[in-house]
Amino acid sequence: MTATPARMPGLFVGHGNPMNAIEENRWSQAQRALAGRLPRPRAVLAISAHWYVEGTLATGALRPETIHDFGGFPPELYSVQYPAPGDPALARRVVSLLGAGRASVTGDWGLDHGTWSVLRHLLPAADVPVVQLSLDAGLAPAEHLALGRALAPLRDEGILILGSGNLTHNLRHAFGAWHRGDAAAPPWAVAFDEAAARAASERDEAWLLGALEGEAGRLAHPTPDHWLPLLYVAGAAGPSDPISSPITGFDMGSLSMRSILVG
Ligand code: ZN
Repeated sequence: MTATPARMPGLFVGHGNPMNAIEENRWSQAQRALAGRLPRPRAVLAISAHWYVEGTLATGALRPETIHDFGGFPPELYSVQYPAPGDPALARRVVSLLGAGRASVTGDWGLDHGTWSVLRHLLPAADVPVVQLSLDAGLAPAEHLALGRALAPLRDEGILILGSGNLTHNLRHAFGAWHRGDAAAPPWAVAFDEAAARAASERDEAWLLGALEGEAGRLAHPTPDHWLPLLYVAGAAGPSDPISSPITGFDMGSLSMRSILVG
């Protein structure tokens, strides 16, 4: 990554299979290539699909724990550590931007695999401070988008706003296709992924906010956790930011690995 510019981009990354953290594959290579194009942030604010809880919480630890929040993977994945420092001042800044009545700092979470499986490729030296922000399961999509909008000033403070999820995420379908050895992306996944990319690039907030309503949305996202991080990145976009998809494609058939870059 290059020197910190006046305004940091916002980035949504499809993280997919946790094994992408340690495998040399198309996705890990694409994320490393993307990192080479990004400015180096002063710190990262990560919004991960895997911290979907009650409340909007920011991690306040000086040394956040690497959380292995998955089951049934090989020992080498459990031995991965991502020892990036925390940034308690940034956590407090996040709370001040969102409002103390809405958000708070917690010591009860660290960096989950939605964050470290991606940062391991984007910032492999783990020398940039990272704060994670939870997804409040009680909020409507419009409220998540509004939180992203409130966080936009951080981009002018050298902070990379990083959403980590997947633009399509139906694990039941993905594991079924994987067991059948069927790598072809089904039409519903291709259609939703392309519609989401169009809506993000055209700032079609009505589409983004209503995306999970209806049959197509429920098929692409039986639960909203992997979708919502996109709304923070979209919310933090300014009116003149270019919006692009530096990584595209599908893993396990229907899992969109598309990333959305703002700025
Ligand atoms: Zn995930």
